[in-house]
Amino acid sequence: MKERLKKLEAEVLDALKGAKNIDSVETLKTKYLGRKGPVSALLKDLGKLPGDMRREAGQAINQVKVKLEEKLDAVLMELKAANRAESLKSDVIDVTLPGRKSSLGALHPVTSTLDDIESIFLKMGFEIAEGPEVESDYYNFESLNIPKDHPAREMQDTFYISDDVVLRTHTSPVQIRIMENSKPPLKIIAPGTVYRRDSDITHTPMFHQIEGFMVDENITFADLKGTLTHFLTHLFGAKTQVRFRPSFFPFTEPSAEVDIECVICKGSGSECRVCKGTGWLEILGCGMIHPAVFKGVNFDSEKYTGFAFGMGIERITMLRYGIGDLRMFFENDIRFLSQFK
Ligand SMILES: [Zn+2]
Repeated sequence: MKERLKKLEAEVLDALKGAKNIDSVETLKTKYLGRKGPVSALLKDLGKLPGDMRREAGQAINQVKVKLEEKLDAVLMELKAANRAESLKSDVIDVTLPGRKSSLGALHPVTSTLDDIESIFLKMGFEIAEGPEVESDYYNFESLNIPKDHPAREMQDTFYISDDVVLRTHTSPVQIRIMENSKPPLKIIAPGTVYRRDSDITHTPMFHQIEGFMVDENITFADLKGTLTHFLTHLFGAKTQVRFRPSFFPFTEPSAEVDIECVICKGSGSECRVCKGTGWLEILGCGMIHPAVFKGVNFDSEKYTGFAFGMGIERITMLRYGIGDLRMFFENDIRFLSQFK
């Protein structure tokens, strides 16, 4: 028995010399000290010995078992410590290095232009209203004095959802929805998304408009001119020249288009591609609200008068920043957008 134990001990210690990593030491431990190993087998065989020898033999086996366990565990500890030291060395963090800066985003130029426009009108006492982008034919056309077969429908390339439902082609339907549900005096601006079947360097199928209107007793064309001139000189600069040209819209009478002095050539017009040599840039449409529109919302057009105006936000943004292609606003190119920080 003693011989067998000594041989076993020597065999384990010898094998341990060849074990260079944690896995192989674990394997040795299972092989020799596990339930199916030689030490367990020796303990099982104790019963076969004569009674007086069992005790001594049992003690001898246990001594060797404990000794081998301690030895193997010590080697395991050493290997694990070495592993940890190794990984600490390779994971070194240099806390003196400067941090990585995460870059801040910025408002989209269309959004910041809209913010500026809203803020000028809010200071003049206007309120902001919104309406649905999917509109009925009635709100988008009929209520605005554009009956079916009216030639003005040709001016707007409409997306039809069904015969009677459209994607709104302008923000003007909001006027009607507000007037149906409230009484004058009214001072409202209505910004929002509108849709037309059109796509080139100055048109996209989706763009933004802002609509505005004012209704009360004794509102005149002078109020319209004063309000819009104040707005344009605050948006484009105090010295900006503004002119009103007679025009036509079905929902206003009289109607006008408003131009500002060209922001590129400062009104000289000489070889200017933006204003095509005229020195002026068309910026918005406006007029006195048509009595037929008031009739549709049961406002007494003998008592009340009002004006309305509408403009494209993208066009104004292009002029403010000198951008030549409208489509750049919607391509989400970070090189373009990061210029507006
Ligand atoms: Zn010009």
